[in-house]
Amino acid sequence: MRQTPQREGILRVLKDSDRPLTVEEIWERMAEKRSGLPTVYRNLERFVRQGWAESILGVDQVMRFVRCDSRHHHHHLQCERCGRTAEVDACGLEDSLRQLEALSGFKITAHQLTLFGLCARCRASAEPGAERRPGEAGHEIDR
Ligand SMILES: [Zn+2]
Ligand SMILES: [Zn+2]
Ligand SMILES: [Zn+2]
Repeated sequence: MRQTPQREGILRVLKDSDRPLTVEEIWERMAEKRSGLPTVYRNLERFVRQGWAESILGVDQVMRFVRCDSRHHHHHLQCERCGRTAEVDACGLEDSLRQLEALSGFKITAHQLTLFGLCARCRASAEPGAERRPGEAGHEIDR
């Protein structure tokens, strides 16, 4: 697919981020702001249709966009603590979906699923002893 500099700029911003971004955040990070938010949004919708990106509704009910590396059907995991996402190039739901079809009478043609949890790094820092003491938020003071 031939990309305009505008679309390349959006893809670069998505590629450089390990977290999903809102339309506003993408626009802010673009080196050349040749167009406004509505154009960025239209391009993002187009990427989603073409499978280059996906929209993720976060646990905070905010819609963000993430770049897709896989060209196949896949899912994204998102860390509830740091917001980092990971892509799993697999589904694993095929059997359950066939059962759902039998139960519902529907022919299921598509599904979306985002999995939320704690990433490996946040799990490690959540281990006892690694945690910040209560009330000790913010600045670290060197002694
Ligand atoms: Zn994706
Ligand atoms: Zn995390
Ligand atoms: Zn799937």
